This record gives sequence, structure tokens and C-alpha cells, in this order.
Amino acid sequence: MHEMSYVVRFVNMAIEAAKENKAVKVKRLLVSVGEMTDVLPEYLNRYYSLAVMGTILEGSVLETKAEPVRVLCTSCGKEYHPEKENGYACPVCQGNAGKVVAGRDVVLEHVELETGG
Ligand SMILES: [Zn+2]
Repeated sequence: MHEMSYVVRFVNMAIEAAKENKAVKVKRLLVSVGEMTDVLPEYLNRYYSLAVMGTILEGSVLETKAEPVRVLCTSCGKEYHPEKENGYACPVCQGNAGKVVAGRDVVLEHVELETGG
């Protein structure tokens, strides 16, 4: 379970962003969850509602979106989504020497602030 540590990190980042922008409230966080991670959005949401209590984030929404895995084939340069059916190989050259370029992280993409005034 890494969800709690992600939530704590994102909440702290949002608090920093709010301070920097002199925001009165944080309205929404957008987090992309990589397909290769074992992070479950429902756990993120559960911990989030606890972590934001008493902070400037209280009452805000945590939105998550799934980030599919993308592999860049080092043989032919094709970027593809690995499929189990063909052993996660490159669909163009059948090469197995791919580099994961997306889908293995949990990233805070956007913080929506209310600046008041
Ligand atoms: Zn290839």
C-alpha cells in the first residue's frame, strides 16, 4: 500500500501551491495513476478525505485518471501499448527490448485553486 504516502505528498504539494499563489482554497487535484503501479484510486480517495481534514484542502475533490503503459521499442522506435497476448513484444518488429516511457508513476498533474478576491 503506497497510497497513503502518495496522498500525503500530493496534499503537501497542493498546500505549497496554495501558499505560493495566495489561494484561499484548494478546489481540485488531478492525479494520473499509471497502469503499471499497484495504486488503487479508491484507496487514494479514502486516504485523501482523511488527509485533508483541517487543511486548506478540506472539501476539495481528488480526481484520478488512468495512465496507460507506453513502451518505446529500442529496436525500431515504435511506441506501443504492451499486450500480454504477444508477450509484451513490439507489434512492429516483435522486439522485446522496450523502454517503459509512461504508466509506471503516480503523478500530481494539476491543482485547481480558488484565489478569492
Ligand atoms: Zn519495434
